[in-house]
Amino acid sequence: MKRPIIAGNWKMNNTNAGTKALLTELVPLVKDAKCEVVVCVPFTDIDTARKAIRGSNIKLGAQNVHWAPKGAFTGEISAEMLRELKVEYVLIGHSERRQYFGETDESVNARVKAAIDGGLKPIICVGETLEERESGKTAEVVIRQINGAFKDIEKYDLKKIVVAYEPVWAIGTGKTATAQDANDTIAVIRKALRKLYGKTAANAMRIQYGGSMNAKNADELMSMKEIDGGLIGGASLKAADFARVVNYQEIQ
Ligand code: PEP
Repeated sequence: MKRPIIAGNWKMNNTNAGTKALLTELVPLVKDAKCEVVVCVPFTDIDTARKAIRGSNIKLGAQNVHWAPKGAFTGEISAEMLRELKVEYVLIGHSERRQYFGETDESVNARVKAAIDGGLKPIICVGETLEERESGKTAEVVIRQINGAFKDIEKYDLKKIVVAYEPVWAIGTGKTATAQDANDTIAVIRKALRKLYGKTAANAMRIQYGGSMNAKNADELMSMKEIDGGLIGGASLKAADFARVVNYQEIQ
């Protein structure tokens, strides 16, 4: 059985004081979670977050990692730097990085390799824009992104990797893909992974849904066969809301 994974993406929110307060409130609320729980915090909050979640079941994540181990890359952060701070997971290729910071399938692939080489577990984000969806290109886009992100990634590294399907039009907009649509596109993603790595390896991979997932729709989304977790933006900024998602109820 795969263990579902629910991760919060705080984006550029919370200073150290806010980080301490939010996580102190969150720790007891999620202590009995059946799923794996991760918080992806801004770089400057990592150390405070590490201390606040010590001894709990919450894992630490970052929101980006550079592809080089070190060097002249002003403003960037390496995998080794993150590992030193006990970071376990890292988001790679979030649509905001693709949209505002020129992230491409090639740079996503390079970051995934660096993360794995550096001992981090990548959460690779893929998803189509509204325009791509409306022109019937969803499958083509996510397959291209998957093939790009996984180029030259070995099968034995797959267990360290999580994929997040995040339709860009659903991120921060309050619009959620219907549970069925999310399930169907994740099935397309899994099929692409099956083509690359075979049935057993692809079926064992955890694929999250992300995009306005919240306390109200988490139960339904998490009940879908192909959905193995969630990547939560806005709703991860309030402890009670995020805890409600993490403690989702199984719908039969
Ligand atoms: C995200 O940023 O990964 C995300 C899913 O955001 P939101 O939940 O706010 O749509």
